[in-house]
Amino acid sequence: MDFQRAQRLQLLPPYLFKEIDRLRDQVRQKGVDIIDLGVGDPDQPTPGHIIDALAAAAADPATHKYPAYSGMSRFREVTAAWYQRRFGVKADPEKEVITLIGSKEGIAHFPLAYINPGDLALVPSPAYPVYHSSVLIAGGTPVEMPLTRENGFLPDLEAIDPAVADKAKLMVINYPNNPTSAVADREFYERVVAFARRHQLIVVSDAAYTEMAYDGFKPPSFLEVEGAMEVGIEFHSLSKTYNMTGWRLGMAVGNAELIGGLGQVKSQIDSGAFDAVQMAGIAALQGDQQCVADMNAMYQQRRDVLVAGLAKLGLEVPKPRATFYVWCPCPDGYTSADFTMRLLSQAGIVTTPGSGFGQAGEGYVRFALTVDQERLREAVQRLAGLGF
Ligand SMILES: *Cc1c(COP(=O)(O)O)cnc(C)c1O
Repeated sequence: MDFQRAQRLQLLPPYLFKEIDRLRDQVRQKGVDIIDLGVGDPDQPTPGHIIDALAAAAADPATHKYPAYSGMSRFREVTAAWYQRRFGVKADPEKEVITLIGSKEGIAHFPLAYINPGDLALVPSPAYPVYHSSVLIAGGTPVEMPLTRENGFLPDLEAIDPAVADKAKLMVINYPNNPTSAVADREFYERVVAFARRHQLIVVSDAAYTEMAYDGFKPPSFLEVEGAMEVGIEFHSLSKTYNMTGWRLGMAVGNAELIGGLGQVKSQIDSGAFDAVQMAGIAALQGDQQCVADMNAMYQQRRDVLVAGLAKLGLEVPKPRATFYVWCPCPDGYTSADFTMRLLSQAGIVTTPGSGFGQAGEGYVRFALTVDQERLREAVQRLAGLGF
């Protein structure tokens, strides 16, 4: 039998991190001691009080039935209260909040609700690959907004062709940013709202990293600024904040029509997140936030070790103010792929090539701070041994 995959899949590159895992495993099989700074997956366990909440909830037969499509009312109320507390954003838990099976799920499904075949969508490059691929799966055409060092890795809104902006149905922004670790301020978000109004487009904000920040910095939410609720939807997640990537729990907050459109798609495809996981999410959002502060203190130390080590090798990187990524320019004469391959094959260090996040990421590699300080020091030593 010759099973031809659908054209929509033929448009997509292999999922970046699946490919990197494959290469890592190949080198590991040769007996190399791998230091994995590849995928952005926290290395620490989920805090105990969250695990306890899951265990108790899972023992209650009330959680064993199909969940509500939009999520448990209580989880949505707690999410709305958290947005109010953390960002001063008011959201109606019934109409302006929806539970997701991880934010990737929501981000990936969202274009199915608003993109018709041929529609344009403004997406950043370099970027989390899902923005691009979900637009393609919906039959739309992604138009890349390059994020460059000169612009602080913020899209240059003035540089977008107004005719393209008028045709575009949506724009994706992601701050604090993966992979560049750049942050946005309220002034940028105000300009995004004005741009969205001028060109009549939807703003999709991915805010997965607002809680992972250093030196006392508190990243804002897009929804904080005047008018954002009229034009946008923001995706958030418990994955990075509470070391819950495996649990699959996220949420979207925003304009009621946009939440409703996403909910309509989801009701046809999935049946919601396990209620016991949502109960654990309630414990996470309502509980003591010391665990988040402790985690950030740990990442901040790791950041300092890696950034100082790279600087000694002549690789100058500003200290990230948020996220657990270090976005590092390649040494002279290396492409992203060359440098990544050399780090893997000669130093046993897994990184992600910047070019894997899109054309504009060429010339960089991304280090994820997902190993302890001692291992990071070892990584820096191995790098020094390479000599470039
Ligand atoms: C990790 C990450 C997410 C979160 O994904 P979940 O599906 O919630 O685990 C979303 N956006 C970006 C940019 C990320 O790096």
